[in-house]
Amino acid sequence: MKRVFVLILLSLFVKTVSASGLVDYVNPLMGTESTYSFSHGNTYPAVAVPWGLNFWSPQTGENRNGWMYASTDTVIRGFKQTHQPSPWINDYAVLSVMPLSGELKLNHKDRGVGFSHNNEEVHPYLYSVTMDNGVKVALTASRTSSVMEVEYPSLDGQYFVIDAQHGGCKVDIDQMRRRVTGYVKNHNGGVPANFTNYYVMEFSHPIAEKGVMINDFLFAGRSVGEHDRVCGYLRFIIPEGEKLTVKISSSFISPEQAQLNFSREVKNKSFDEVKESSVSQWNSLLGRIVVEDDDEEAKQTFYSCLYRVLLFPREFYEYDADEAPFYYSPYDGEIHDGYMYTDNGFWDTFRAVHPLFTLLYPEVSERVMQSLVNVYSESGFLPEWASPGHRGCMIGNNSLSLIADAYVKGIRGFDTEKALQAMVHQTETQGEPLSVGRNGYQEYFSLGYVPYPDYYEATAKTLEYAYADWCLSAFASELGRADIASDYESTSYNYRNLFDKSYGFMRGKTRSGEWVFPFSPEEWGGPFTEGSSWHYTWSVMHDVEGLSQLMGGHENMTFLLDSMFNAPPLFNYGTYGFVIHEIAEMVALDMGQYAHGNQPVQHAAYLYDYTLSPWKTQYHVREIMDRLYKPTPDGYCGDEDNGQTSAWYVFSAMGFYPVCPGRAEYAIGSPLFDKVTLNMPTGKSFTIFAAENKAENVYINSAKLNQKRYTKNYILHSDIVNGGEIKFEMSNKPNLKRGVEVTDAPTSLTKVSKK
Ligand code: CA
Repeated sequence: MKRVFVLILLSLFVKTVSASGLVDYVNPLMGTESTYSFSHGNTYPAVAVPWGLNFWSPQTGENRNGWMYASTDTVIRGFKQTHQPSPWINDYAVLSVMPLSGELKLNHKDRGVGFSHNNEEVHPYLYSVTMDNGVKVALTASRTSSVMEVEYPSLDGQYFVIDAQHGGCKVDIDQMRRRVTGYVKNHNGGVPANFTNYYVMEFSHPIAEKGVMINDFLFAGRSVGEHDRVCGYLRFIIPEGEKLTVKISSSFISPEQAQLNFSREVKNKSFDEVKESSVSQWNSLLGRIVVEDDDEEAKQTFYSCLYRVLLFPREFYEYDADEAPFYYSPYDGEIHDGYMYTDNGFWDTFRAVHPLFTLLYPEVSERVMQSLVNVYSESGFLPEWASPGHRGCMIGNNSLSLIADAYVKGIRGFDTEKALQAMVHQTETQGEPLSVGRNGYQEYFSLGYVPYPDYYEATAKTLEYAYADWCLSAFASELGRADIASDYESTSYNYRNLFDKSYGFMRGKTRSGEWVFPFSPEEWGGPFTEGSSWHYTWSVMHDVEGLSQLMGGHENMTFLLDSMFNAPPLFNYGTYGFVIHEIAEMVALDMGQYAHGNQPVQHAAYLYDYTLSPWKTQYHVREIMDRLYKPTPDGYCGDEDNGQTSAWYVFSAMGFYPVCPGRAEYAIGSPLFDKVTLNMPTGKSFTIFAAENKAENVYINSAKLNQKRYTKNYILHSDIVNGGEIKFEMSNKPNLKRGVEVTDAPTSLTKVSKK
């Protein structure tokens, strides 16, 4: 009787939570306790709709500081329209605004006002704060626009500052119509000369006084400033009990388009209407994955992570008067019809972010594919790190992974012939910056590897190119181009050329074929990218079995994986010359040489599935989920990176992970929750049950897929998208007899023939 009563109470509680919405599980401050030298995520609290053209964030750092909001900072200097994908790439087209009380201070270095986290409310759809001077700000956002409400504590100096930043900008105040228009052009590279963000803002109350500051000269009463650095200010006289409402829109296309965006999204809408629209968009997209469990903290972590996955890449397109998508191209500076996405480093996001889209948000994936083809048409290359145009950052041809993964998982709504042409071209040419095309392509094809030190990070490049070649081969094969498929399949074995059997590790090799000496698997940089051989040796996502055979078989590979988790976290900072933050984070997380704070190694815990010791995958992925993620400002163990470190958690908590994007299957890990329902946009759903699941029951004792006994260490994409269920029985002891047959191993390019 008592038990029934508890159950009723519980179900009431669950209903209450879901009524208020999954979005309220999200903590946008997760990852914001970060600095240049140590990252707990390097995130900022983006107030935005999913994939919004503009994000808004409180700004605690000075202008141009990539750490725009650090939870340890003590003052707010503005509220910033931001497009920043990462502090390392920094921002572009920034506009910030700041209400002040009392004295007018325009310069961002002087105008900061103290605040406390106790007086903040932070959601994806709302940021509000009462600052120490008594000014209260509430901010919500739509796709291109935002609405802000300001309450001043007194009639004394009710100022509102518009900081159009640096790099060429304009502030034009129309006092009669209570409007400010203008543009900003600031950026950090990757844009044509005509790059411009046109803004428009309107105010609910009459403007009593105005002025501009041009560079450092103040012009009281003046309406227009157009120069390198411009700030504008307004003063209001708002009676007690009334709020100033500010509506802001912008466009990368034209001032007229900015006005259209304004009229469509905010002109005749209240703050609450815009906010409610954001709430419902978030709930609808977060609701593609419904978690049922009594661990409320883990649910907060899960949905905070899913929020990060749904922010990037940014929809860089706008809608014309007929609701057709079109965009300003950051590649050729022209206006084009169709879709354009940006702010994404595929080196990070090919691993799990885009695979999550192909699985649960295929409509987004299809538009991203169209965008990739558009970038090729407009720039001659596929993007690898875009923000908003090509940026010289990271390595690899991971755009090929995105396309292959989307296609093999059923996404067809893009120009596949042109995509194939672009993919082949990407492997055979070097672009500018070096991150597009293939750096070292001649040697890669003639020698079978990229030589070091002729090319920096040469071994990491070789490994990523070999995987990209496999992706291209898989895609060409699907398109019926056996010739291309076969050529690229053979080069996808190039990873073999850099594996040193005497050490059991991937190494650098010189042009003449000598191993780079001396060698230590703990040495960072040199032939590797932001990691050591401990991290890059596993980068053979398409042929884990082939790698295992190089290592001497499953037992040896299992031993080396164990060693990675157990070895002391020693390091040599190598060519970096100092302790880069990724090294500091590896040492801090205390999992041996395993460095979950950076992306190249993030699939490694799943490789035990291939060596037929899946209980070790189950153990380690739960350790990582439990120890390295929490829904707090210090909640990540390194850079979050455009959703990638979050997508690892989202997949892993569901119980599976895309070790090899481009192949339509997932390695099985250890489901974290009692029940997870995947709601596909087709209307079908797939449910993952984990009976007897608790903190110590990390092992899968048995599984049933659609009522049939299931022993494999992987699950097919088709099994999920066709709908159905998988039921796991969890245990605190590993089942050493499950998942141990060669037929249980996930697929590799090399066939698994013996244990
Ligand atoms: Ca990273």
